[in-house]
Amino acid sequence: RLDVASSFLQPSPGRVVPPRVLWVDEASFPMIVHTSIATTSDAASWEQALVDAVDFLTAGQVVALPSETVYGLAADALDRKAVARIFEAKGRPSTNPLIVHVADEGMLETCAASWCSIAALLAKHFWPGPLTLVMPKKPIIPDEVTAGLNSVALRWPSHPLMQAVIQRFQGPLAAPSANLSNRLSPTSAEQVGAQLQGKIPLIVDGGSCSVGIESTVVDLTGSIPTILRPGVIHRGVLSALVPSIQMASGVMDPDEGLAQRSPGQHRQHYAPEASLRVCRWEDEPSLLGRMEHEGLDPAKTCVFCHERFPSSPPFMRVSVIPNDPEAYARALYAELFQCDQLRPQSILVEDPPSKEAWDGVRDRLQRAASGW
Ligand code: AMP
Ligand code: MG
Repeated sequence: RLDVASSFLQPSPGRVVPPRVLWVDEASFPMIVHTSIATTSDAASWEQALVDAVDFLTAGQVVALPSETVYGLAADALDRKAVARIFEAKGRPSTNPLIVHVADEGMLETCAASWCSIAALLAKHFWPGPLTLVMPKKPIIPDEVTAGLNSVALRWPSHPLMQAVIQRFQGPLAAPSANLSNRLSPTSAEQVGAQLQGKIPLIVDGGSCSVGIESTVVDLTGSIPTILRPGVIHRGVLSALVPSIQMASGVMDPDEGLAQRSPGQHRQHYAPEASLRVCRWEDEPSLLGRMEHEGLDPAKTCVFCHERFPSSPPFMRVSVIPNDPEAYARALYAELFQCDQLRPQSILVEDPPSKEAWDGVRDRLQRAASGW
């Protein structure tokens, strides 16, 4: 049933092609594949999407799947060749490790060499959900997944389709966000397609992501539990359960040595194509004055605000984002994507509050802005 352009797919002689599965042979056909979009809006299409996704994963292919955080590009976490396809499709540096997604305790046992009481406590409170725990790894996890580290990042996602795929596949799935490396993480199937169309065989459309930014990553391999990446499960909530928890140095100041603790947490990340700046303004005249000073044309500038709203003209677009950290996170990437479509000269973002609950949003905005 898959809408596969089989005419240009040439399986190499002697290879068995699994039914309804697209076989991409690197030697004969390296780059372009037909990308199918599977819908899940009724019971029949849901079931078909599940079958198709599991077929591709079983054949060692990558599939874009919805999760509650952002869309993920999934592959069999125990198959190094399949995992290599994730890096290839995203153009992701091999030094940036992947999060492994599980959907039952047996899969956790497959991946983690040990389990501590803090891991058990955090898992009990936040799983399934947008929290990733870094634990010592078992040898079965290929080095490709962990960038050679002896730890593995584990998450039990809550999205029902993601869970169903993992359970039906009966094994853990490595899945980074389904975008090109360093670009915006997608929160809808449309945004996945805009970046990965022609590079992956299947995108499962499971609607918009309810969390909207990547998971909080907590490292439990050292003597002090450490937040490597902030998210909507923030330090305030975590420290109520684990008072000793700390923020990794460099998390909110990405210039400072975080790269060693958490490879992949680079200074510039999650960036739209337009230049992005985070700044503060009092009112519309002061915003316009600032833009003039910086040589920005209002007609080519998108403005993001949550508290001080300028009127729409003369700006290219004014995005009013809810003044609430969780609602802001949900809207953030989708709205940046909309702005990018207009090809603005610049995106100006009103400085978000400095409270802990905003750590995840602030971290993503800082990284998006850091290239400019
Ligand atoms: P994503 O791009 O959402 O897949 O994010 C994965 C991020 O999780 C990586 O960039 C790392 O920062 C972090 N991560 C994954 N595995 C590990 C690990 N074993 N140790 C420390 N951080 C990790
Ligand atoms: Mg990512």
